[in-house]
Amino acid sequence: MPQKLLERFLRYVQIDTTSDPDSTTYPSTAKQWDLLRLLASELREIGADVTLNAHGYVIAEVPASVGCEDVPVVALLAHADTAPDFSGTDVKPIVHRNYQGGALRLPDATDQVIDPADTRYADLLTAVGKDVVTASGKTLLGADDKAGVAILVTLVARLLTGPAPAHGRIRICITPDEEVGRGVEHLDLDELGAVVAYTIDGGAVGRISWETFSADGAVVTIRGVATHPGDARRYGMVNAVHLAGKLLALLPRETASPEATDARQGFIHPLRISGNAAECSVHLILRDHDNALLAGKGAALRAICGALEAAHPGARIECAVTQQYRNMGYWLRDNMLAVELLREACEGAGVVPVDDPVRGGTDGSRLTERGLPTPNIFTGGHNAHGPLEWVAVQDMQAVVEVLLILLGKWVERGSEFGGYRSQAN
Ligand SMILES: [Zn+2]
Repeated sequence: MPQKLLERFLRYVQIDTTSDPDSTTYPSTAKQWDLLRLLASELREIGADVTLNAHGYVIAEVPASVGCEDVPVVALLAHADTAPDFSGTDVKPIVHRNYQGGALRLPDATDQVIDPADTRYADLLTAVGKDVVTASGKTLLGADDKAGVAILVTLVARLLTGPAPAHGRIRICITPDEEVGRGVEHLDLDELGAVVAYTIDGGAVGRISWETFSADGAVVTIRGVATHPGDARRYGMVNAVHLAGKLLALLPRETASPEATDARQGFIHPLRISGNAAECSVHLILRDHDNALLAGKGAALRAICGALEAAHPGARIECAVTQQYRNMGYWLRDNMLAVELLREACEGAGVVPVDDPVRGGTDGSRLTERGLPTPNIFTGGHNAHGPLEWVAVQDMQAVVEVLLILLGKWVERGSEFGGYRSQAN
C-alpha cells in the first residue's frame, strides 16, 4: 500500500477548494490558496525548486538527470480546485481497505450507496482487493483532481529522492480554477517553459484523452413588439417570451441534445433563458468533436432563428455565435509522439491504454490551441463531481509508475519530437 501517496491524498481532499463560476477574482475563491500554499511548501520540503505566483500557480522544477539536459522539457499539470456542482466543504474521506466487492454505503447519507450491481457503478469491481477512498455521503471526494495533485507530488518525491529512471527537465504545475474553465487563463507559457505537457485529470486507469470537443457559445436575442396586454391585438404585440419558447421547441432535441447523444455526437444545448415580452435572450452552447459539424450546428441555429423571424413580422431575432475552444486533436494528430509515448508507457506499466475522447474541454484544449500540446492522462478517479466519487490508492500509484516510464520514453525518443504547426485545419 503506497502509504505516503494515500496520506497526501487524504490531506488534500480535506481542504475545501471549491471554485466559483460567478467570481471575478483569480483564483475564483480565496480558500484555494490554502491548498496551493500547502503544496508549494510540501514540494519545497521534498527538495523541488518552487514558485507560487500571484495568480496561484504552483510551479515546481525537477532538474534533468545528468546527460539528459537536451531532452524536451515536459510539463505535468493537475488542478487544485473542486467542482462547484456539489459541496466540497468538510470532506470526510473514508478508506475502505482491501475492498471485497459489494455495495459501499456512505455513512452520512443513507441514500448514498455505490453499488456495483447497478451497471452505472459496475467499474467499482475493478477495485476488488484494492484500498478504495470515498467521501462520507454529504460531499464530493475531490479525487478530481486531488488524485492528480497527490500523484504529481508523489512523482516529484520519487524523482528527487529516487530510485527513478533518467529524465529530462520536468515542470510540475498545479493550477486553480480548472472546474470553472479558467485554469490556464493566466498561465504564462514562457514561465512554464515546456514544449509538451500532460494534464493528469482523467478518469479510469488506462483512459487517455487527446481529443476534446470543439466548442462555441451562442446568444440568441429576441426582440418582440411590446404593448399593453389590453391593447395587444390592436397594436400588434409580438411576445418575445412566446418566441423564445418556439425557438426551444425547434431545436433538434431528439438528435442533438446532450440528453440524446454520447460518444462522438455533438449537441446544441440551451443553458439559460431570461427576459420578458419585449426582449428575451437564450444562451446556448454548441459542441462537436468535428469543426465542420460544429459549424453546421451554428448554421442550423441561425436557420431556426431566421425562419422564426420570418414567420413573426415585427420580431427581430439575432444569433451571435462565438468561438470558445477547439478540439486538441486537430493539433495533436499532426504529431502523435506525445500520445504514442504515453501509450507505450501504459503498456510498460501493465496498463491497457484506451482512447477516450472528452465530451467537454480540458485545460489542455486551451494550452494546445496556444501552442503547448497537452493530452490528458487518467488519475484512476470515478464518478467525479458528486457524492459517489471514488478512487483506489493502488490505481493512483499505477499512474505514478506510468509517468515514470513516460519520462524515460521522452529520454529515449524525445529527439524525434519535431514540434507542432501553430494552426489547426
Ligand atoms: Zn478535473
